[in-house]
Amino acid sequence: MLLILFDKGEYLQSRYMRTTESICPICQKRIMADIKEVENEIIMEKQCDEHGFFSEILSIDAEYYKRLERLDHFVENTVSKRKIKDMGCPYDCGLCPDHLTPSIFVNIDITNRCNMNCPICFASAGSTKRLYEPSFEDLVKMLQMMTSIKPNPPFAVQFSGGEPTVRDDLPQLIKAAKDMGIPQIQVATNGKRFAKDKDYLKRVIDAGINTYYLQFDGLCPSSYEKFRGYDTFPEKRIVIENLRNFGETSVVLVPTVSKTVNDDELGDIIYFARDNFDVIRGINFQPLSFSGRASKEEVKRYRITITDLVTRIEDQTNGEIGKEDFYPIPFVVPVSRFIESLRGVKMPHFTTHPQCGVATYVFVQDGKLIPITRFVDVEGFFEYLNEREEKIRCGGKITKGIEISRTLKNLGSFIEKEKMPRDLNLLDIARGIFSSSEKEYLAKLHRKSIFIGTMHFMDPFNFDLSRVKRCAIHYALPDGSFIPFCTYNSIHREGIEKQLTTSINE
Ligand code: SF4
Ligand code: SF4
Repeated sequence: MLLILFDKGEYLQSRYMRTTESICPICQKRIMADIKEVENEIIMEKQCDEHGFFSEILSIDAEYYKRLERLDHFVENTVSKRKIKDMGCPYDCGLCPDHLTPSIFVNIDITNRCNMNCPICFASAGSTKRLYEPSFEDLVKMLQMMTSIKPNPPFAVQFSGGEPTVRDDLPQLIKAAKDMGIPQIQVATNGKRFAKDKDYLKRVIDAGINTYYLQFDGLCPSSYEKFRGYDTFPEKRIVIENLRNFGETSVVLVPTVSKTVNDDELGDIIYFARDNFDVIRGINFQPLSFSGRASKEEVKRYRITITDLVTRIEDQTNGEIGKEDFYPIPFVVPVSRFIESLRGVKMPHFTTHPQCGVATYVFVQDGKLIPITRFVDVEGFFEYLNEREEKIRCGGKITKGIEISRTLKNLGSFIEKEKMPRDLNLLDIARGIFSSSEKEYLAKLHRKSIFIGTMHFMDPFNFDLSRVKRCAIHYALPDGSFIPFCTYNSIHREGIEKQLTTSINE
């Protein structure tokens, strides 16, 4: 266990420098990179002695990029250290002592087999001719390691692959995770088996799944044909119908997004979620990421950044959801900090890097979409929480009591009640989050809204060490290590798979 201690002032200063560390997309050697503003765009430039010069776009809107930096919140976190520092980031993952954010979401690949053969996939047994499939017992051990992390075990586990539903023991795995008390159990799926095999789906539901992370690239056949090899949209409709019939209400659509393929369908995907609001709780847009094997021309043609994405969402929803309605993930840190001081217990803080992802909550009323930011002054409210948190943390028992009731009383001044959706009692939800169970009341908020987010996973072209060091989404591996998602896919996956897989022909 390690308490990461560092000088926040120094950290903030270095974050605003235009230099970071990255890797060469070809040989993966650590190299320096400059982050520059050029004609209102933000680019990363780097030079490998052996493989030459690389320039990569990070944002098409420099002001928006800076807005995300401005809205960052970083605090000390308690991070469970499992590996010693040896070659330095990004080669020491496990987590190593330099890591700054604990595991909050954990991915467990339970197989690399798949019932599809997507042209864009980097993880399939079909393309590698090698099989990765930990035994049920090994997977249970991984779950146990995850739940033993102190002081706060990760909030969610996501079973992924390959395609996790090709395993018949997925229901038993979900049950094992449920019995260990993991609050959020998710399955990342293409939905094919859930569309065809209702008995299997029923067993997954009975085992206690919380969220279906459903691959969903749009509504047009051409998008599926390019990404998946054939039009799978009809199957997605069947899965959603099957889930509806079983009374399930927690689907997150997961569109992979690329320029020239489906970047013109973002609005339609959002409206599809609105029209299926009884079942769909969120959309997590994932810009396509590239391996080092992609050519510079391909990357340039297909790369879509967070700013491209939110700009298109604004255009394609006619401003119903705007760029400014989205906030970077660490923007919510004042809430966990406030709860930490209020309850006097250590909380995990979602201190991912502000350029990793943005999100918003949108409510549906009379067919219209209402982002939370249209009736809540979120920036003012979080600033206020920060101020009160300091008073609660520093004050004695009496100050604490006064501050708590004052904060709860003043919550209402940040909400424009006349603009708030009719059946939403946000004050009640906020009071619940602060005074009793944040999980229960956050779930209430989720049930009444659609979460719209995007996470720009990195690849070797735009890899940034200052981002991976703050990653909260980690792969669990059979040897007990936890590896940040982007580091795993950009650096470690190939080597680890060589060790842990067996040849399909063996
Ligand atoms: S990504 Fe994190 S765990 Fe991995 S080497 Fe870097 S600091 Fe260490
Ligand atoms: S998975 Fe990648 S993009 Fe997401 S928080 Fe981690 S480093 Fe950032």
